[in-house]
Amino acid sequence: MASTLPMLQPTKVLAGKDYKEVLRREMDGGKIPLSLGKSCPVKCEFCYEIDHAYRETLDPPKTTDEDWKYILDYISRKPTNPLQFWCIGGNEYMEWTDLFLHPKTMEWIEDFLKYTDKNITFFTVGFVHVPKIHQLAAQYPGRINFELSAITLSQYRERLMPHAPSVKHLMKVLDGPAVSSANFYTFDDHTMSDDALAISRVNQKCVLWMGCLTPVRGIKDDTAALMRQGRRHLAGEARRIYDAGLPNIQTIHTEAPITAFLNRKRIVSAFDALELEKRDTVVMAKSAYKILNMYRKNRARYLMVPNATLGGDSDCTVLLTFDDIARCLTNQKHVYIPKAMMQSGRGPYTDIAGVTVEDFMKKTGVKARILHKIDTKFANTRLWRNGLLKNYVEDYVRNPLTQSYEDLPLPA
Ligand code: SF4
Repeated sequence: MASTLPMLQPTKVLAGKDYKEVLRREMDGGKIPLSLGKSCPVKCEFCYEIDHAYRETLDPPKTTDEDWKYILDYISRKPTNPLQFWCIGGNEYMEWTDLFLHPKTMEWIEDFLKYTDKNITFFTVGFVHVPKIHQLAAQYPGRINFELSAITLSQYRERLMPHAPSVKHLMKVLDGPAVSSANFYTFDDHTMSDDALAISRVNQKCVLWMGCLTPVRGIKDDTAALMRQGRRHLAGEARRIYDAGLPNIQTIHTEAPITAFLNRKRIVSAFDALELEKRDTVVMAKSAYKILNMYRKNRARYLMVPNATLGGDSDCTVLLTFDDIARCLTNQKHVYIPKAMMQSGRGPYTDIAGVTVEDFMKKTGVKARILHKIDTKFANTRLWRNGLLKNYVEDYVRNPLTQSYEDLPLPA
């Protein structure tokens, strides 16, 4: 029975280690692990780090000049991959925060661009120094990927992120060459669509990265309700943006059921290529379950696994954990599991919580057969490429099949 199974606990890897171990692990994963030495003070209501207890973390103290020298030296010794962008901030072994609140971050970005030949990527709700960030973007073209988490410019901004920069400041950040992509979401009528028009007025080059926010464990009920309200307005808001014909690249990426539907042909052909028997049990999250029930009913046993670890409305096969799967087992002797869910930053064949496939098999007595072709490359490259807003409007919002897809029942 699901409830009697023990929780699958990851082996602790940081116990007894000092913070340099955290820095090295993050750097080996392509991160530039600056630290504020405390939780993020911005305290956004929607922050996905509100409950990150599912993974082991150890937050380094506030980064000093000496730490920075160590980080820069360590990263400089790594080979340069022109396609790789080093990300400011660790998020596997430490807590994610807005690192532009560290007084030295702008200076250290400049160091990084000057003393290495590597590219850099960063996310912030907008705490950048405006003239400096535009100057760096102009000075080092192609080496900076700046993802601005605008979230919303609407009346909901004050409620969701009272400590974030003002809309006026955000517009100055957007007005220039620095921002590569601005992400913002729908919460109501005329939220995402008005934001798209406003952002496009000052910057026609940045990608508009849109959708809804998904409630996860730890998010307050009223915030989760606002996110769900946004989801109900997504189609209308997307249509308005579509009709506006803005010059920016426009994407909708954040809703798993939509992504799955837009990629239904690819999911079905990938499934067919696996050549599974009818009696084989295959693990998947809700959206893939719906697609396969719609197009390949009873071609295998589909074990729908809720994303219980992340909680809320999460629906993503890549972010399933072995514990989530263990809780859904009944009498299976073996199950087929997509490789994508065991390619987390915590190591090979390891889920986002740090549990390995061997741990899973040892503790449940169930043999895991790994579906190697359903990996993160498939999930990221193949499934995301239909993520343009245009595809969403033309192939989802206006598609008569969508209603029957949305109405498909899920197991209780
Ligand atoms: S700024 Fe980012 S990390 Fe900080 S609370 Fe907001 S969403 Fe979370």
